[in-house]
Amino acid sequence: MLLDVKGLRVAYRTVYGDLEAVRSLDFAVEKGESVAIVGESGCGKSSLGHAIVRLLPPNATYEGEVLVDGKDVFSLKGRRLREYRGSDAFMIFQDPLNSLNPVKRVDRQMLEAIRTQKIMRDEPYDEEEATKVVVEGLKGVRMPDPEVILRRYPHELSGGQIQRVVIAMALVMKPKILIADEPTSALDVTIQAQVMKLIKELKAEYGMSVLFITHDMAVAYTVADRFLVMYAGELSELGPVDKVVTRPLHPYTTALVNSIPHKSKREGDLVAIPGSPPNMLAPPSGCRFHPRCPKVMDICNTVNPGVKQVEDRLLRCHLYD
Ligand code: SF4
Repeated sequence: MLLDVKGLRVAYRTVYGDLEAVRSLDFAVEKGESVAIVGESGCGKSSLGHAIVRLLPPNATYEGEVLVDGKDVFSLKGRRLREYRGSDAFMIFQDPLNSLNPVKRVDRQMLEAIRTQKIMRDEPYDEEEATKVVVEGLKGVRMPDPEVILRRYPHELSGGQIQRVVIAMALVMKPKILIADEPTSALDVTIQAQVMKLIKELKAEYGMSVLFITHDMAVAYTVADRFLVMYAGELSELGPVDKVVTRPLHPYTTALVNSIPHKSKREGDLVAIPGSPPNMLAPPSGCRFHPRCPKVMDICNTVNPGVKQVEDRLLRCHLYD
């Protein structure tokens, strides 16, 4: 097991009170496996990603345990934490420009990342050697003319090129787990497909585990082995992608699957999920999905269902009590 999340809780202190973004979350990711965290915006999926790389804002508090390759992530400090970010876990953000320094050429940024990693590991740094690694990294993400791209500043690159540079950076750092937070949502559809294909190829080639955070099940379907569906900070359903899509068991997953645009469906057949996600400062009592659930029962209004194993899934729903 590469990633093991146990009893994770992430909350933010706000002027209106505590906002619990992730609650009582348990799941694991195997080495070389790809898990897509899906759900509507505000369901806690990005907070989960940020907690794993320890990049939560100062008003955040967290409880529970996150283990990456046996390392207790919440206990890391200083140099060990810096080494962990990059060497063990690498995060790609929604806006790739946030991952790059706008006033530094691409080559300087990539070389600095390698140099820092070498220093952390007490290994010798050789600029010529590192340059070769960087060029190989860019070739690895199928970037045409890598030597030209290396001499450019981020603003001289297109959105697709920047995202490739960031993925190339992940490649040269060779993390054990890549956390991609909506990595294609700022890109147009063609580039989106190319970047997804790339992440899939890199996962196969380098045996990296991938945590793919997205609101779009259709995009995640192409890269993920399993779906972890989140609603209002909690796990709703976790299971293999094919089975979750063809036979969703949780009413929220069913609603998400029905809202996926599909070639065979006419536009009028798409079913929008009724209602809106809850106010996380005052989430509903009982099952957090009950105000929107077409299968709601009396017990759902007052008792929050625990997570149960049903066949090859984990489910949080009273229908499976
Ligand atoms: Fe619907 Fe009840 Fe299941 Fe919640 S617990 S998803 S309200 S049936």
